[in-house]
Amino acid sequence: MSPSDTGFDFDVIQVGYGPVSKVSALLLDRMGWSVGVFERWTEVYPLPRAVCIDHEIYRVLHAAGLGPIVDRVTEPAPVYRWFNAEWKELLAIDWTAGSVSGKPEVNFVHQPSFERALDAEVMRRGNIALNLETECVGISQTDEMVTVRIRDTKTREERDYTARYLIGIDGANSIVRESLGIKRSDKGFEADWLVVDFILKEGLTAKDLGLIECGQYCNPKRPTTIVPGGTENGRVLRRWEFMRLPHETREEMVKEEKVQELLGDWIKPDQGTLVRHALYTFRSLLADKWREGRILLAGDAAHLMPPFMGQGMCAGLRDAWNMAWKLDRVMRGTADPALLDTYQPERLPHVSDVIDISIFLGSIICIPDEQKAAERDAMFLSENAPPPAPFPKLTDGFLHRDGAGEVVAPAGELSPHGTVRHRGRTARFDSVVSPGLNLILTDGLTLDDLSRDARTILADLKVQTVTVADRRKAMDRDIADTQEQILPFMRDKGVRAMLVRPDLYLFGGAADPAALNALVADLDRQTRDLGFMRESGTGEAVPA
Ligand SMILES: Cc1cc2nc3c(=O)[nH]c(=O)nc-3n(C[C@H](O)[C@H](O)[C@H](O)COP(=O)(O)OP(=O)(O)OC[C@H]3O[C@@H](n4cnc5c(N)ncnc54)[C@H](O)[C@@H]3O)c2cc1C
Repeated sequence: MSPSDTGFDFDVIQVGYGPVSKVSALLLDRMGWSVGVFERWTEVYPLPRAVCIDHEIYRVLHAAGLGPIVDRVTEPAPVYRWFNAEWKELLAIDWTAGSVSGKPEVNFVHQPSFERALDAEVMRRGNIALNLETECVGISQTDEMVTVRIRDTKTREERDYTARYLIGIDGANSIVRESLGIKRSDKGFEADWLVVDFILKEGLTAKDLGLIECGQYCNPKRPTTIVPGGTENGRVLRRWEFMRLPHETREEMVKEEKVQELLGDWIKPDQGTLVRHALYTFRSLLADKWREGRILLAGDAAHLMPPFMGQGMCAGLRDAWNMAWKLDRVMRGTADPALLDTYQPERLPHVSDVIDISIFLGSIICIPDEQKAAERDAMFLSENAPPPAPFPKLTDGFLHRDGAGEVVAPAGELSPHGTVRHRGRTARFDSVVSPGLNLILTDGLTLDDLSRDARTILADLKVQTVTVADRRKAMDRDIADTQEQILPFMRDKGVRAMLVRPDLYLFGGAADPAALNALVADLDRQTRDLGFMRESGTGEAVPA
């Protein structure tokens, strides 16, 4: 075990070792913290679950040094199409479209393979104290530390471990959440679905079989999901999901004959191999509180949603990413614990909106009633089809505000990303300008437009400043926007400066010198409230 320098067993203890915990541990380890992970089971949960990760998570994993892993286990998604029983298209979500992160909106992944790759990275690094077959059976905390009671699942022996912080990443039935007495709000969605992973016989493709590549078949007789299932050990998987109808029992749904019968509508037994199946109850639950003193919740422990948008794990990974830079600063003593107070206001409303969009999509497919399905079809095939709400941004927390306390757009948006060129090297922006507090300037706005005080603030907060320029006009010291992702975004938002937070969200933007000075003054005020440490710097650092 790698002890914390503080005399506790670890800096951070994580209960659970699902995908969110794996990424969280790798993030904290990379920042130099000792992490102790306790997991009840011996191996990765093998049953079918997540198949997609979005562009933001793709970018985050790259920024966190996990790019080779994500590239190895993902492939770009096709268009996500929704059909009625007569195969008329009700809705199409273009997952192939370019995103603000400079890559396709969505990538497909096989969750157990993703988790195994993350696990291999945990093993390779060798610093994270991973304790399998150990379960958390109790927690307590003081002002200085947390204590978890851990039981060895084989010997039943119990012992206590201490840490500065504890993250409950222990899934839907989280004992950490329960122990804190935190209730969950139910947004009211509930449906049982049988989820099946299948490997097509070598050489066969979805197209050969006349299957849709990726979509929802909204037939009230059997609402069905048909999507890619990622790749496992070089074998390409297909995923089917079948809704349980009101007259069917949960028990009959999981019988092998039933699974074969349902698959039989789509595929012949000799066309491949059934790999695994499981019945899930999709629900929409949101923990009312995400932090209690030194204990934080993340992932499914904090939120559950139906998977029609492919966002449950992504939301959990956003939690880990949001939390990591804050814990790092707080534990390093370069920010007050008050910074952790921004975790819930930033993450909860965001995930709440994602749950609402997932429920909206779920309400299109989960209709086992012919009459209601006909009404839905009429609406979606007319001009009046309601589009899914736009993907949310941050609306509260560490964001630029005006004098009245209102968040000033584009604060809270995810910053744009793409391929850039700098000093003759072409690379992804995040590998040229490492995530931190970064000021991006363009279109003639420079540090000279800032007051002397504002320049000192940026220097003392170690804000990196870079200039992004049109790829045809960029000077060698500029960052050339070769993929044309950054400048069009800024033009669209009407800004010539963006202050980007360490988690790649915008603290704020500014259109002119006056707004830029106001932005920096607000950064100064808010970082003082949050106890950010000031150091002397140049404020004009150009990235290496
Ligand atoms: C059918 C289906 C499809 C999905 N599709 C997608 C998708 O396409 N995209 C997406 O982003 N998400 C998707 N999801 C959601 C995604 O799978 C989950 O959100 C994700 O696995 C949650 O990760 P987690 O690390 O928070 O929790 P989990 O993966 O549940 O891990 C929690 C871990 O904690 C351990 N644990 C629990 N209690 C204790 C204890 N007391 N002591 C020690 N260990 C404990 C458990 O054993 C478990 O290993 C899907 C889910 C389902 C069911």
